[in-house]
Amino acid sequence: MSDQRRDMPSNDSNGYAKIDQYNPAAVERMSKHLHGVLTELGEDPAREGLVKTPERVAKALQYLTHGYGLDPAQILRSAMFREEYQQMVIVRDIEVYSLCEHHMLPFFGKAHVAYIPNGHIVGLSKIPRVVDAFARRLQVQERLTMDIRNCIEETLKPVGVAVVIEAQHLCMIMRGIQKQHSIATTSAFTGEFNSEKTRAEFMRLITNNSRG
Ligand SMILES: [Zn+2]
Repeated sequence: MSDQRRDMPSNDSNGYAKIDQYNPAAVERMSKHLHGVLTELGEDPAREGLVKTPERVAKALQYLTHGYGLDPAQILRSAMFREEYQQMVIVRDIEVYSLCEHHMLPFFGKAHVAYIPNGHIVGLSKIPRVVDAFARRLQVQERLTMDIRNCIEETLKPVGVAVVIEAQHLCMIMRGIQKQHSIATTSAFTGEFNSEKTRAEFMRLITNNSRG
């Protein structure tokens, strides 16, 4: 038996500082480099459409890597509750947007996360935030999957954790290395999810109907 997307009280103010502001000194330094990159590409950084591009790119990069400033374990700890519920909790179809560390190009898709509580549950809204805190860094999909698993394992100490990520990588698609729309799937499990029966139930629950 499973209980998906159970509603939990959440406290959005703890452990998670949404970063809308930029570090002006870093933006200025990065802009200088990006100005040089545009020149190296054969562009004219002074032409109208590009004048503000170095600054925009610098700000975009800061936003896309703002996970470095977040503490994913603290995000979980801010909404942990004692609870005897011991069935599988699944949050599936979590949007993932990350940057591959080899090309700094986006990879994006869906994450599915499950855990079986062992005395503590966590506010369900925190799971996508943990995914985001690790995804908003330079990553490889394999490590992102393990980072999420390890954080939940070490913080909640559950009976088991399962993480599956399905993603498309623009560095593969745009550079023509793989056929378009190919999807990379990675998974990481601990504890009870290493048992074939539990893992099969999890896989069934994340692949059945109602997928968009
Ligand atoms: Zn890449």
